[in-house]
Amino acid sequence: MKTIGILTSGGDAPGMNAAIRAVVRTGIYYGLKVKGIMRGYAGLVEDEVIDLNLSSVGDILQKGGTILRTARCEEFKKKEVRKKAYETLQKHGIEGLVIIGGDGSFRGAQLLSEEWNVNTIGIPGTIDNDIPCTDYTIGFDTACNTVIDAINKIRDTATSHERANIIEVMGRNAGYIALYAGLAGGAEMIILPEVEWSIDELCDKITYGIKRGKLHHIIVLAEGVMSAPELAKMIKERLPKLDLRYTILGHIQRGGAPTVMDRVLASQMGARAVELLLENKTKRIISIRNNQIVDDDIDEALSMKKEFNRKLYELSKILSI
Ligand code: ADP
Repeated sequence: MKTIGILTSGGDAPGMNAAIRAVVRTGIYYGLKVKGIMRGYAGLVEDEVIDLNLSSVGDILQKGGTILRTARCEEFKKKEVRKKAYETLQKHGIEGLVIIGGDGSFRGAQLLSEEWNVNTIGIPGTIDNDIPCTDYTIGFDTACNTVIDAINKIRDTATSHERANIIEVMGRNAGYIALYAGLAGGAEMIILPEVEWSIDELCDKITYGIKRGKLHHIIVLAEGVMSAPELAKMIKERLPKLDLRYTILGHIQRGGAPTVMDRVLASQMGARAVELLLENKTKRIISIRNNQIVDDDIDEALSMKKEFNRKLYELSKILSI
């Protein structure tokens, strides 16, 4: 193998740059040429390919976002469009392709491998942590830290005014950000898609909290359940006198300098991707499980189910009584 390519696809996540840097520098260390494909699969189809060298990835380790940009390319679901992607790889002599993204991006990689025999390696990069094969995805830790920073600030003002606050966090259909940030931020209540909840129980808890002298009530709500205004409306119908505000954190959760955890994870996964290609392994997804960097066939990785950490959820309930 002489030349490899790298792209970032789907939603961006802090730490993607650290992974790009690791792929480029490890590749060059082993004597490979590394090419960057701009804007994910869209750039692969439209032949947007650049040469990457040691200094192209200088000074990016600490930056959020992705220097290769990212895009969603619905067209990539069509076989004739993927043929164009294969032609771009052929044109540039790219023999191995590293894809940093989520489940959708891995489906694209799976098809490229099956249809055109492209050597693909996937690295999980998404703030949502919703990729079943891995305990953690690149970007998740940074996003959780952004959320707890916001919770800390909201708690200050909520305490001064003796208010209740709903904080809506990202996560798509998964509640990992809500669970981890809610626990770490000391939320009174965490509402997420994986666990049943009731509006009456929530309101009872707020009322009980007020009686026992709590000065604030932080409710962390995962976007996959409902929106903050909807939940606020439901609470106000039951507790009309409650001083209640809501904050939708939105895209600030997707940006910012990656944390140590995300930089270390991205560096390990990026380096491993290059090693796997050099070992002639293909159609693999890299994961971290039980603190070990491992890899699985894409088909297997995509069929795995992630066990929801109910113990952590129960703990958050005990600690917020
Ligand atoms: P993520 O990778 O974060 O899950 P998306 O689901 O948006 O994000 O997928 C990113 C890109 O991967 C899509 O824009 C598309 O180009 C490609 N992709 C997603 N699903 C498929 C699929 N079933 N077949 C081929 N390509 C896909």
